[in-house]
Amino acid sequence: MDQPPAPGGDAPPAAGGIRVVGSLSPSRAGDFMNCPLRYRFRVIDRLPEPPSSAAVRGTVVHTVLERLFDHPPPGRTIAAAEALLEPAWHDLLAREPELATLFADEAERAAWLESARSLLTGYFSLENPAGLTPAARELYVEHVLDSGVRLRGYIDRLDEAATRDGPALRVVDYKTGRSPGPAFEGQALFQMKFYAYLLWRIRGVIPRELRLYYLADRTWIRVQPDESDLRATERKIDAVWSAISRARRTGDWRATPSKLCDWCDHKIRCPAFGGTPPPLPAADRPAPQATTVDRPEPKPAASEPAVRRAADAHQPDPDRPGTGPDPDPTDG
Ligand code: SF4
Repeated sequence: MDQPPAPGGDAPPAAGGIRVVGSLSPSRAGDFMNCPLRYRFRVIDRLPEPPSSAAVRGTVVHTVLERLFDHPPPGRTIAAAEALLEPAWHDLLAREPELATLFADEAERAAWLESARSLLTGYFSLENPAGLTPAARELYVEHVLDSGVRLRGYIDRLDEAATRDGPALRVVDYKTGRSPGPAFEGQALFQMKFYAYLLWRIRGVIPRELRLYYLADRTWIRVQPDESDLRATERKIDAVWSAISRARRTGDWRATPSKLCDWCDHKIRCPAFGGTPPPLPAADRPAPQATTVDRPEPKPAASEPAVRRAADAHQPDPDRPGTGPDPDPTDG
């Protein structure tokens, strides 16, 4: 889970001796950029969010696409992918038995599985996995900035080719929702640039391509980042972290209503909808003098709120393989 800095608390040192002051993933950065209050509910209050069938379907489909590459290339067929669906669902159910209550009856579960099959069909319409040799799947990446902020996340797939100019990397992400409209396309790529930035820092190589597959409407977008893109991403990450730290000091977690509210599990306690947030956890209550001195930080440039891949819905760390895609409109 992403962690804000613990006031006065000791965080474990990172490899390299930098004292870690907190963690940030692209999903949580996106939460904060979209609505600081939603970030607070998820990260500070750690309020539970019920699983949704869409989120769980996303998890299962991601698992299938990961396992598909266990097959030798000729065996990576749509039939093989479909055969992996039920086992992936049952494996998830074994880990999280409460998911059994997602479906009222077998017919509902069967319809849900059918919708997952349709997403797999969408995947095969976008690329032929028999022609690929991924370097990594569900790759955990982490880098600690000099400021002590640990950036981390999971990359769905990393493709790598040796070239005369050195390794060529391609970051691939599967979205089980629909593609974003033009106004959200740059926002959707923030997550990918976050990963590209991490790879650049970890391996010293700027990925040649960032590719997002939208399985629901069977389309994809891509970007070829350069150093200036990644430096801009670095500045944005710094700005987001500064704003999170300021919100934590002041206690000013602003509700920022948008169409994303329709997918927010916390409407009932949101002031924008007549609700009342619970008291902040004791460790996160701002010192009284801080609230009288500090002004609230303006919301960081909302030009690129991240689109969350998955499923933060009912699991603490959304960037860890587990329950599936977030139902945000930009990610289905
Ligand atoms: S309902 Fe909307 S404004 Fe309120 S916390 Fe959720 S996303 Fe933010």
